Amino acid sequence: MTAHPQCPLCTDDGGELVWRGKSARVVLADEPQFPGFTRVIWAAHRAEMTDLVPAERAGLMALVWCVEQVQRDLLCPDKINLASLGNVVPHLHWHVIPRWRDDSHFPAPVWAGAERDGAARLTKSSPLLAVYRDALAARLDALVAG
Ligand SMILES: [Zn+2]
Repeated sequence: MTAHPQCPLCTDDGGELVWRGKSARVVLADEPQFPGFTRVIWAAHRAEMTDLVPAERAGLMALVWCVEQVQRDLLCPDKINLASLGNVVPHLHWHVIPRWRDDSHFPAPVWAGAERDGAARLTKSSPLLAVYRDALAARLDALVAG
């Protein structure tokens, strides 16, 4: 695997590691305003989905769908935002972001300016967030094993 020494996703997990598979990992992003903000990160340094062969693309998206489903089941957000930008860090990763109508930026993207102070549905120390993290790891294990 070719790692780029200047790429933060080649040199660091990129968040609190939840799960690591052969070709990708899942982390909780360090975004205190958006607890539950999860990233699915391809292990190898690739910029675009079309850099992957079709089976790799399908495998990566299966992880993204798994994260989305666990967020729906456990966090019950009003909406889930999926994004793959990579403009700042051109290393393939998907953002899976649970959103609530009263969060600080809703209905704008999390990268836009804040609309209000926002209600904190969860915090880093919320028991629900720990339940989410453990359930997500178990569901990803089951997905890969299955
Ligand atoms: Zn990289």
